[in-house]
Amino acid sequence: MAERVAVVTGAARGIGAATAQRLAADGLAVAVVDLDETATKSTVDAITAAGGKAVGVGADVADREQVESAVARIASELGPPTVLVNNAGVLRDNLIFKMTDDDWDTVLSVHLRGAFLVTQAVQAHMVAAKWGRIVNLSSTSALGNRGQVNYSAAKAGLQGFTKTLAIELGRYNVTANAVAPGFIETAMTAATAARMGVDFELLKKGAAEQIAVKRVGQPEDVAHTISFLASEGAGFVSGQVIYVAGGPSSGL
Ligand code: NAP
Repeated sequence: MAERVAVVTGAARGIGAATAQRLAADGLAVAVVDLDETATKSTVDAITAAGGKAVGVGADVADREQVESAVARIASELGPPTVLVNNAGVLRDNLIFKMTDDDWDTVLSVHLRGAFLVTQAVQAHMVAAKWGRIVNLSSTSALGNRGQVNYSAAKAGLQGFTKTLAIELGRYNVTANAVAPGFIETAMTAATAARMGVDFELLKKGAAEQIAVKRVGQPEDVAHTISFLASEGAGFVSGQVIYVAGGPSSGL
C-alpha cells in the first residue's frame, strides 16, 4: 500500500505537534501546518530525526486562498492527503458581558471556518482516493465552560460539523470523528493560567484533583486517540465524539 499523507493543522506545538509526530511514527508522511512556516521547524525536525517524513507549511486556516494553496502544495510535495486533523485553535476568553465582536469572530473563524475550509480542500483528495480519515478537535468546553461562550459554541459546532461530514462522506469510505480533550498541559492552558493570574503548577494540581485518573492530560494522550481514529482498522467508527479527559467529567 502507498504511504498515506496526513495534514495536521496548528502542528507547530502542543497537541498538533504530538499528533504530527505520532502519525509520522505510525508510518504516514505528515504536512505540519501552522500560521508561520518557520514555527513548524521543530516539529518537522523531530519527525525527520526519528526517521519519518514531513514538510512544514505556513497557512492561516481561516483564509481560503492560503488554505487552497497549502493543500495544493502538500498534494504535489507529499502526495494526495487522505488523513486530516483539524487542530488549529485559539482562545479569547471573557465573560459574555465583556466579550468583544473580535473575541467572538476570531474564535469562531479559526475553529469553525478553519475546519470548514481545510476539510473542503482535503476531502476532494479523499473522495478521489475513496478513503479518508477526518479528526476534528472539539473540547469538554463544548458542554459549557465559564468565560468561553465563543470557544464552547465553536467546539459544540465542530461536533455537529463532524457528524454531518460522517453522513455526507461515508459513502466514499471517509470517516469523520471528533476528539474532545479535557485539561491538557500545553501553551494554551499555560496562557489560561497566566490570564487568570494563577501559577500554572497550582492550576494543574487543582485540575488533577478533579480528574478521575488524578492527573492532567498530555498532548500524547490526545495523539494516541487520534492515531486510532486515523488508522486503517477504524473504518467502522464514524460520527463519534471521544472525550479524552481522564474521566467522565472535564475537571475544568
Ligand atoms: P496551542 O498550544 O495553543 O497550539 C495551537 C496551535 O494552533 C498554535 O501553534 C497556533 O499558532 C496554531 N494556530 C492558531 N491559529 C491558527 C490559524 N488561524 N491557522 C493555523 N494555525 C493556527 O493549543 P493546544 O492546547 O495544543 O490545542 C490544540 C487544539 O486542541 C485546539 O483546537 C484546542 O482548542 C484544542 N483543545 C485543547 C485543550 C487543552 O487543554 N490544551 C483542551 C481541549 C481542546 P500560533 O502559536 O502562531 O498562534
